[in-house]
Amino acid sequence: MRLSDRCYAVTGLAYKFPSVLNAGFIVGDRETLIVDTGANAMAAATIHGYATPVRESNALRVINTEKHFDHIGGNGFFRELEVPIYGHSGIQRTPAEFLEERATFHPAFHYATMPVNPEHGFVDEFSFDLGGCNVEVLLTPGHTDTNVSVWVPEDRVLYVGDCLTNQFAPNLDAADGLSSWQEWLKSLDRIEVLQPEVVVCGHGPVEFGADVLTLMDRVRKVLLQRVTAALAITTAEPEDIDS
Ligand SMILES: [Zn+2]
Repeated sequence: MRLSDRCYAVTGLAYKFPSVLNAGFIVGDRETLIVDTGANAMAAATIHGYATPVRESNALRVINTEKHFDHIGGNGFFRELEVPIYGHSGIQRTPAEFLEERATFHPAFHYATMPVNPEHGFVDEFSFDLGGCNVEVLLTPGHTDTNVSVWVPEDRVLYVGDCLTNQFAPNLDAADGLSSWQEWLKSLDRIEVLQPEVVVCGHGPVEFGADVLTLMDRVRKVLLQRVTAALAITTAEPEDIDS
């Protein structure tokens, strides 16, 4: 799906319902940046197949928006092609973790899929110059401590990973509890001030225009409820908990 001059989304990549994943790519004059690689080698091949023909002369780069396997599972496909892979330094998945993930699927799902971490780790924000197109990488932790968003200011398109999910409840249980949810709320404030025109969530339909704010409000409300409930428990007197 073409979203703007430079930006594309690849939606509906196979995963277990309701976690169907979205990826995307941004096409500069010299380089194309792929955002997330899907859960497996087939998803990665699909993304590669859409991204490459748009500007065949472009070099490719990959960035992962977080550490969960639905976003990095296709990294091995791109490593084989010697495409550089970027991601938060906290993305350090082990072969044992991948085996555990793989055991929950039919073997066909992970055919030719190899677990690969990004080799270009970072802990600070930075930008890519894709040639006539500047792309900012923003730290938006909360869902995990490795979550980043990819912002294309010129086109006002934001790839937000699982900082936002659309038509699915955000996965709060993957976070580390109260402090992570509070971080997540700060991340929502951060992306809201950007006033994106288009948001590509990790899961669920791409959102446009005024509906972007509605989506952010919906996720914020869920987080606030959870934070309020957690704070009520931590500040309650022991007898309150018993009653
Ligand atoms: Zn996800």
